[in-house]
Amino acid sequence: MPTIPITVAYGDGIGPEIMEATLHILKEAGAKLAIEKIDIGEKVYLSGNTSGIDPSAWDSLRSTKVFLKAPITTPQGGGYKSLNVTVRKTLGLYANVRPCVSYHPFIETKHPGMDLVIVRENEEDLYAGIEYRQSDQVMACLKLISRPGSEKIVRYAFEYARTHDRKKVTCFTKDNIMKLTDGLFHKVFNEIAAEYPGIENEHWIVDIGAAKMADTPNAFDVIVMPNLYGDILSDVAAQIAGSVGLAGSANIGENISMFEAIHGSAPRRAGQNLANPSGLLLGAILMLVHIGQTASAERVHNAWLRTIEDGVHTYDIFKESISKQKVGTKEFAQAVVERLGKRPNTLKAVAYKQEDVEEVCSETIVKERSDTKKELVGVDVFLDWLKGSPDNLGDALSKLVPDGLQLAMISNRGVKVWPGGAAETFCSDQWRCRFMSKNKGAPISHKDIIDVLGRVEGAGFDFIKTENLCNFDGERGYSLDQGE
Ligand code: NAD
Repeated sequence: MPTIPITVAYGDGIGPEIMEATLHILKEAGAKLAIEKIDIGEKVYLSGNTSGIDPSAWDSLRSTKVFLKAPITTPQGGGYKSLNVTVRKTLGLYANVRPCVSYHPFIETKHPGMDLVIVRENEEDLYAGIEYRQSDQVMACLKLISRPGSEKIVRYAFEYARTHDRKKVTCFTKDNIMKLTDGLFHKVFNEIAAEYPGIENEHWIVDIGAAKMADTPNAFDVIVMPNLYGDILSDVAAQIAGSVGLAGSANIGENISMFEAIHGSAPRRAGQNLANPSGLLLGAILMLVHIGQTASAERVHNAWLRTIEDGVHTYDIFKESISKQKVGTKEFAQAVVERLGKRPNTLKAVAYKQEDVEEVCSETIVKERSDTKKELVGVDVFLDWLKGSPDNLGDALSKLVPDGLQLAMISNRGVKVWPGGAAETFCSDQWRCRFMSKNKGAPISHKDIIDVLGRVEGAGFDFIKTENLCNFDGERGYSLDQGE
């Protein structure tokens, strides 16, 4: 078995202790790793680097392509960028994979037998982080869902299910409300699901899906979802399985992947030999599988399960009625080492096959752009305006519409308020004014848009943003407003 170079960050708080423990277990299990250490986190932040990662660390990550990371502390106060988000986005780690398993009866849980995997899209959605203050009253955050991004994550979820003997992939979205963004994610899910006839598939609206998952997690197997829902629900799933302190996660990219615990640096527990290294160890097991060292992964995982089963527990999972021995970080690691080669008796032993090695799918089925006929049919002009009623605004804008165009409607926070709005609708100072061709559905030009903007500005209005309205292959590429 070849020695694989990996990049390791010991992190902050309890990070160094749980990393020492984890690496000790991996070494004793026969993992063949050449470790390159990098500094990231608090020390780097406080040295004045607001990204928390030294430029030279990227070289190591790009050369090893495998990153085992202990938790880091993000200093309080503004200006410090989340290192996790920086690393994920910079390195294109598009899939966050989080197995959530309960260990009943050895660790208290409301859901014995829970064993599900959350596959979260890791780069897009509201986490593109594109936000604006558009007026005195209104802030906006752009939710971006792309076809290639959705294809990559959905295909990853099905490939994961295929290689890990999972029977079903479920998709959570809110496409009854966000018909274009979440609608695309759902549509791509249906397209890719059709390529995997041996794997069951289903879709749930995220609100009721989340309720079902919290109540009956055993109804699910692999769940794939856009970034924000995945962020929230993967913590819920880990917690109801037993503890967020017991979950590891993989962040998979086309070239580079990162493995970690899901918990933070728990600074109050640092330096006391108290912390549970299990989350990082389970992250490291995902790493061993990823790099093809499946035999070591299996030895470590089964020894860890046996340790949990034998009641050797750190303080965070220790329960007088269940546990047998309360141990510190080092002793826990030693207990796992002593059980290498053993398997659990009651809990299900794991078996990793060589085929489990992650085949990252970068293959996409994106339609060539030239195939799609795009037609500009209108423009939404957003105004910052607080001088009267919707009818006042409608009257004023109607007077300045160029020939051939019409003011089709005005909405406020997504509700149509002109023409014929309801008196009860609350209006903020941000207005969306939709201009389209008089000839319903006929194309307009960019010059028409510039003309509209010139007239709007000439009449003293403060326009804050425009959005072009386009049809793609005759299909509407923009949402209608509530009541439109
Ligand atoms: P945390 O997860 O660090 O700790 C919350 C509590 O959980 C701790 O007080 C401790 O009681 C317990 N805990 C967590 N991990 C444990 C372990 N391995 N063993 C035993 N007990 C454990 O969350 P926090 O206090 O909100 O955050 C602390 C710092 O961690 C912050 O600076 C935060 O930004 C950072 N953080 C980093 C990551 C990461 O690097 N991936 C993730 C989350 C939070």
